Amino acid sequence: MRFSKLRLTGFKSFVDPTDLIIADGLTGVVGPNGCGKSNLLEALRWVMGENRPTAMRGGGMEDVIFAGAATRPARNFAEVALHIDNSDRLAPAGFNDSDQLEIVRRITRDVGSAYKAGGKDVRARDVQMLFADASTGAHSPALVRQGQIAELINAKPKNRRRILEEAAGISGLYQRRHEAELKLNAAEANLARVDDVIEQLA
Ligand code: ATP
Repeated sequence: MRFSKLRLTGFKSFVDPTDLIIADGLTGVVGPNGCGKSNLLEALRWVMGENRPTAMRGGGMEDVIFAGAATRPARNFAEVALHIDNSDRLAPAGFNDSDQLEIVRRITRDVGSAYKAGGKDVRARDVQMLFADASTGAHSPALVRQGQIAELINAKPKNRRRILEEAAGISGLYQRRHEAELKLNAAEANLARVDDVIEQLA
């Protein structure tokens, strides 16, 4: 599963639709301070399901929407599309059983985020799981923010272990275990209620 293109529309400083072609080999992004290099990395993290505004250097998730400039009004939505070369069929067949897969995330003011995969509406969880299982998720150690190396060196062992688990592609399993535990707790609570009702009827 290889990323081939990132398209940003109204995302942070990228007000007009902008394509970043990710060719084979190494892609370097160079430019003066403040031109939007980190915004590109954040767009990648965001389309993979990042939900912490702080990871986007914002106070709320809507801060990723173009906020306006001296000559241009603010936008009402932001959209990031990630094109994936899926010729190795690593994406689950339910997503799109073809060589190319497009994941789109759009956030609209006062409405929130919506995701599409291969043109179909999908849940945030499905997109997060897809990338977590492929070890490229929003929290992937492959994406290194400014200052993150220092954070890593000073990190507690538990946090460092989380980074290793993400790299090993097992963080999706933790999420599934957590969801299974919640379902189990709910089922146990329901069973206890059924016992109460049976007792009252007896
Ligand atoms: P440096 O080299 O200094 O790290 P950079 O190239 O990584 O800079 P970014 O931090 O990606 O630059 O981009 C910062 C720019 O993005 C700033 O000019 C900021 O005003 C702009 N920006 C961030 N959020 C928004 C937004 N919601 N709307 C409009 N512009 C934004």
